[in-house]
Amino acid sequence: MKTLISSDVSLLANLIQEGKVVIFPTETVYGIGASTRSEEACLRVYEIKGRPRDNPLIAHFHSIESIEEVCVLGDLGRKLLEKFSPGPLTLILPKKDKSLFPKELDTLAVRIPKNPVIREWIQQTRGPVSAPSANLSGRPSLTKLTDVVRYFEGKVDGILIAEEPSFGIESTVVSLVGEHPTLLRPGSIESEELKTILPNLIIPSPFETSPVLSVSHVPLSPGTKYKHYAPSAQVVLASREEFIHSLEVGFDPKETAWIGFSFPEKIRKGNLFSKTNETVAKKREEHSEFDHFSLVSTNEEYASKLYAFFEACDLAKIQTIICEAPKLGRGWEGLRNRLEKASRRN
Ligand code: AMP
Ligand code: MG
Repeated sequence: MKTLISSDVSLLANLIQEGKVVIFPTETVYGIGASTRSEEACLRVYEIKGRPRDNPLIAHFHSIESIEEVCVLGDLGRKLLEKFSPGPLTLILPKKDKSLFPKELDTLAVRIPKNPVIREWIQQTRGPVSAPSANLSGRPSLTKLTDVVRYFEGKVDGILIAEEPSFGIESTVVSLVGEHPTLLRPGSIESEELKTILPNLIIPSPFETSPVLSVSHVPLSPGTKYKHYAPSAQVVLASREEFIHSLEVGFDPKETAWIGFSFPEKIRKGNLFSKTNETVAKKREEHSEFDHFSLVSTNEEYASKLYAFFEACDLAKIQTIICEAPKLGRGWEGLRNRLEKASRRN
């Protein structure tokens, strides 16, 4: 199949109207989209991704009004969208238009992406556009055009070129259809912010704030049956001490990668941190091609780099990726959730 790779919004919008499948960037990750009005086109998305059919898709809209035409928004829904949209918040709402995919559900997941070009594109498709993340099911979502092209050229009808994702992890998902509003997936919009509008938000226990994880903690949480967001390499979560220790103890850098927080220069001389700065500098010198060592300053920067880092590690046949646990505070919630899932062994 020939894939049209272009920044021409109209051409790519026509493809969706014709029932074709198009990949597009959002502020979170790349999506693989089809018209929410075409069951056949949406089912092709499942086939291309290898996505289990019981996992429904998010419908992407260009405006609050266009959501209201097909869903029951309600007071809370409107307030949430007015505060957080366009942006990385997905709401589960009751459907008014039962013909929309997936027809078997009375609910629809809705979201308005941040990038105006993408909203313009959705409007031109006469939307909405149903799209899960553009990745093979179970693997990390993609955040770089080069990775998208490598996986999907020849398998989809179009790839829309626009601003690359910057948040780097998938949207926060909140259900407004049960008895109480419930957080279904943590993301960049955090439960504390949501609680300003949803004081009774139910936060299922795995998402709650708990002490920083350590390596030994991780295998003890068997949790769900399936792998998610995971590269081929084994992801290991490490506390700060464990992360630093792992740099000192001679893991083979041809097979190991590290992503964690940078080491402030000003910390007391002679302690472990300044020794670590030297170790890092030496490692960089020894392995000039060495791209598998990434230091970040904030949780947000960590999230924005994570999936592309995973992809680069898999391409380089890295066996183990040592990931420092995110810092408690802003950006922690979504990032910890993805890292925990990525580190599961089954
Ligand atoms: P993805 O598209 O891979 O980022 O995942 C979309 C997320 O939204 C998944 O966790 C879905 O299970 C969830 N989702 C989509 N539609 C619904 C719905 N109608 N009810 C509940 N969850 C949904
Ligand atoms: Mg996904």
